[in-house]
Amino acid sequence: MNPELLEKIRGLVGPEHFLTGVELSPYVLEGRTPDAAVFPGSIEEISAILALASEAEVPVTPWGGGTKMAIGSPPTRVGLVLGLKRLGRLIEHEPGDLTATVQAGMSLGAFQAEVGRRGQWLSLDPGFAEQATLGGILATNASGPRRHLYGTARDLLIGVTVVAADGSVVRGGGKVVKNVAGYDLPKLYIGSFGTLGVIVEATFKLRPLPDVDRCFLARFGGLKECGLALKELLTSDLIPSAVELLDSEAARGAGLVAGTDGGGTLLVGFDGLEAQVGWQCEEARRLFEAVGLVEHRVLDGAARDQAWRAASELPRRVVAEAAAQMKLAVLPAHVTDVIEQAGGVAQRHSLGAAFVAHAGIGIARGVLTGGRDSARAVADVLGEWREIAKAAGGSALVEWAPLAVKEAAAVWDPPGPAFRIMQRIKAQLDPRGILNPGRFVGGI
Ligand SMILES: Cc1cc2nc3c(=O)[nH]c(=O)nc-3n(C[C@H](O)[C@H](O)[C@H](O)COP(=O)(O)OP(=O)(O)OC[C@H]3O[C@@H](n4cnc5c(N)ncnc54)[C@H](O)[C@@H]3O)c2cc1C
Repeated sequence: MNPELLEKIRGLVGPEHFLTGVELSPYVLEGRTPDAAVFPGSIEEISAILALASEAEVPVTPWGGGTKMAIGSPPTRVGLVLGLKRLGRLIEHEPGDLTATVQAGMSLGAFQAEVGRRGQWLSLDPGFAEQATLGGILATNASGPRRHLYGTARDLLIGVTVVAADGSVVRGGGKVVKNVAGYDLPKLYIGSFGTLGVIVEATFKLRPLPDVDRCFLARFGGLKECGLALKELLTSDLIPSAVELLDSEAARGAGLVAGTDGGGTLLVGFDGLEAQVGWQCEEARRLFEAVGLVEHRVLDGAARDQAWRAASELPRRVVAEAAAQMKLAVLPAHVTDVIEQAGGVAQRHSLGAAFVAHAGIGIARGVLTGGRDSARAVADVLGEWREIAKAAGGSALVEWAPLAVKEAAAVWDPPGPAFRIMQRIKAQLDPRGILNPGRFVGGI
């Protein structure tokens, strides 16, 4: 990158917010070191940096908490990392309106603590809340167990401010739930993986914190029984806030059971008023007993939080020696079958596997273990897992894998006929292709 340009950017933000050389080690992306990492302190600074980068066609990687940087194809070019950590403030919280506007670099954990002081919460619970920023969560459309009842960022974001690739500042939506007419711009940026603009501010709908929030942990002899219990639960009158399924290996890795016994575990969330929650836990026990419940516990407080955290952060934190992680999205009715088939494939290749699923909505995460020295075997298993998801009418995404595996296995599913429209949107919003080049579907 041109030294004059680097100097200009350094001058814009001040030397204390500008890293080069060995200081860049935390920002190496798939083996590629950027030229610099810059941490602007305002929307104006971000705008000026993007205008300069666009003019010089320098690639820019927006960087929130850095927890999801493993997702995506290896970048075709890296240049400047643009860190959002200095934009970490709650701008406005109107408890009476159940809305809050926040800077994109604020972590989810810090945000929840602030709005929680006034009895409210953002009903999104992806893993690593202390590090993950709201901008990164929107850019990756990340969600957690409570997606089951409360949906994803798409249901909660009502306004967004984005700095486009050329430095212009674009606002979409607003602070009221029914917004101005026009295309729904905020939704375009959700799940765009930083390829269309840098999200700098967001306005969310909030909810009152429930009086009571419990986790019903149910253990079964096998995945088959878990599948039956799931069917009973989803066709009952109960309204769970979350339904997570863990296979034997995952439950052990999460610290929920002592050893691997081939059993299956369901974690079912219930929240609301004491009487409602108490009744639902009882009813869940009654339903599950009819289909082979082996053991159950009702978790509250720290034990409940730890169980949810273990389920949503399991993929790399708990399972040692992960060789790759894949997300398989299928219909809820197929979840246990898909997990059993995928586990069988791993076994045939002499690899281990652990699975956690948002079972009520059909999203399973598989972590492959062992096989670190054989990228080919890992890539082959991932290829077969993708076929299993496809055969069940679903889709697959490699969420984490070493570079050698990514070079041998597709990260994204083929984008299909909508790709032409995606390419045109990208060409309009980032005509010089500077934002996260090569990382998104179809190499956008
Ligand atoms: C092991 C592991 C397991 C996880 N499991 C789950 C899970 O089960 N379910 C789930 O939903 N999530 C999961 N996550 C993801 C987690 O919730 C992420 O922390 C979150 O989605 C990303 O936030 P971040 O600030 O770290 O983003 P980063 O990693 O910094 O960025 C992610 C992407 O968004 C872009 N980006 C970041 N900030 C902005 C911005 N302001 N504007 C535009 N683009 C931006 C980046 O360029 C990058 O492409 C997991 C993460 C890890 C490490």
